[in-house]
Amino acid sequence: MIKVQIKDGDLIETEPGTLAGELLAKALSKKKRKKLILAKVNGQIRDLSFPLTEDSQVEPVFSGDPEALEILRHSASHLMAQAVKQLYPKAKLAIGPAIESGFYYDFDVPGGSFSPEDLERIEARMQELAREAIPLERQEMPIDQAEKLFQDMGEDYKVELLHDLEAQGEREVSLYKQGDFLDLCRGPHLPDTGKIPAFKLINVAGAFWKGDENRPMLQRIYGTAFFTKKELAAYLQRLEEAKKRDHRKIGKQLDLFSIQEEIGPGLILWHPKGAMVRKLMEDFWREEHIRRGYDLLFTPHIAKRDLWKTSGHLDFYSENMYSPMEIDEVSYQIKPMNCPFHIAIYNSRKRSYRELPLRWCELGTVYRYERTGTLHGLMRVRGFTQDDAHIFCRPDQLDEEITEILDMTLYMLRVFGFDRYDIYLSTRPEKYVGSDEHWELSTNALKSALEKQGLEYEIDPGEGVFYGPKIDIKIKDCLDRSWQCSTIQVDFNLPERFNVNYTGQDSQPHAPIMVHRALLGSLERFFGVMIEHYAGAFPLWLAPVQVRVLTITDRQDEWARNVFGQLRKAGLRAEIDLRNEKLGKKVREAQVEKIPYMLVLGDQEVADKTVSPRTREGRKLDAMPVESFVEMILAETERGKTGGAVSPESRE
Ligand SMILES: [Zn+2]
Ligand SMILES: [Zn+2]
Repeated sequence: MIKVQIKDGDLIETEPGTLAGELLAKALSKKKRKKLILAKVNGQIRDLSFPLTEDSQVEPVFSGDPEALEILRHSASHLMAQAVKQLYPKAKLAIGPAIESGFYYDFDVPGGSFSPEDLERIEARMQELAREAIPLERQEMPIDQAEKLFQDMGEDYKVELLHDLEAQGEREVSLYKQGDFLDLCRGPHLPDTGKIPAFKLINVAGAFWKGDENRPMLQRIYGTAFFTKKELAAYLQRLEEAKKRDHRKIGKQLDLFSIQEEIGPGLILWHPKGAMVRKLMEDFWREEHIRRGYDLLFTPHIAKRDLWKTSGHLDFYSENMYSPMEIDEVSYQIKPMNCPFHIAIYNSRKRSYRELPLRWCELGTVYRYERTGTLHGLMRVRGFTQDDAHIFCRPDQLDEEITEILDMTLYMLRVFGFDRYDIYLSTRPEKYVGSDEHWELSTNALKSALEKQGLEYEIDPGEGVFYGPKIDIKIKDCLDRSWQCSTIQVDFNLPERFNVNYTGQDSQPHAPIMVHRALLGSLERFFGVMIEHYAGAFPLWLAPVQVRVLTITDRQDEWARNVFGQLRKAGLRAEIDLRNEKLGKKVREAQVEKIPYMLVLGDQEVADKTVSPRTREGRKLDAMPVESFVEMILAETERGKTGGAVSPESRE
């Protein structure tokens, strides 16, 4: 007999081999039993059919538990694969994991791709299979037997996966069967297909087998699943909203940027309006850095290959770097990072302890190779401008420096409209460079800076990079999506490689602590995030065009030109629309272009020498003198630029 402790319940003596689910079911009320979907055995989530073979602690997992969501979604991917195999018997199965937003399954389908109508059919079949509440059964078998089985079924990809597992030393594998469908799978899974209450197939995309361009192109169907229909509906609505806000779509509508095949994938062309937003971002960024004691740097785009040897990039980073070019018989390479240049400036002369800290920043454009399939609008590109900075300080200055960096990060993110984050602190991994003493000092500095700001954070113990501890900040946008932007990284590696030091009070050389830091990440990506966050309706201080002057008839042309001149003279980004069009049309166009203010001029405004402002949200303000309008705009711009960002919603 074995002893099983049910969490918060009885200690039960039972036969070895008793199924976890049976035992739990007996201990639960009828109502709770219905929601039982998995068992946690000694802290590990298992199938309800998991046999208990030794003394254990068992805990029920119910439908709706957040920790079961991934398993629900993985079970939904099996359900989808079963439906696909029934409808397309020639389809071959590849892999079908749960992912953050749901799940996918890759299929090799003879004769092309799935259409939206196919997805509807598959989903309808999934509904039928779910209604049948088909049990999922786990089987275990020797790997060679599984190979034979999948070979006979013509599932070549599964056979390849089995070969891979065999090469890793696996001798036994598990399979999951539901009705006529069989899959190679580690599990665990929900007990039956009826426990998948809410799912939806989203789209289909091409994906290479094992992500390898030289292997077959498969059809990847994406779907999602939730424990309730309500959660699914809310998710689908967010997805709709995200589609409307897609920065590639808005970027085109508002003529902000383009990516052109003739230029090359992942390379961004900033059009005049996008370039204006970038200029405003850069101006604010530079001013704020100068205000906080940074110096500006500019560095070249290429450097001799030897530099990248010394920095270690050629050893650790070469797959992200572009091929060398020959100049005067010397090899040069385009930069994937700015760091070695900043170090070269540091090393251009002797440094004394009195000069530290040095805070150097640069909007540095770098180039990194990304696979074509991973490129995505402004979010993932091949050439981008990092808002980079490096701080060189003495160990005794580190605490204050990190605190200041974090304060600046949060301030700038807030000004750009983001005040919700997820924060991660990575600590020392198994393999590392640098002294234990410096690791401890730096990790503590990062921790205490977070705590001083009262910020919650997650620790990724041992998940850090080998060269030093770091903080990563993911900002949340208005749709609750997370975007990795800011990073603060201590580095013990590069200073050693480049022999960076300063002369201490003791006249001896000492290694400074070097911190890499990016607040926005890259201007391209951050611009993309902002376009989606604001749906293109930038706050006044960032709007490429702030005001457009509109006339009703040509009787107002002269006054309109006068007003326009005054606005430009006051430094406002203004436009004028004198076309012989209906006012309604002019207003609508300005609204579509997300221009924050329109000034409507009719005969009354001409007679009174006033302007009548309207906002892009449709609010009408009383007529006022031009000077009053300018004052109002300048005040709102200033408020936006100092952290009281006026969101489009709050202006209504
Ligand atoms: Zn599976
Ligand atoms: Zn760096």
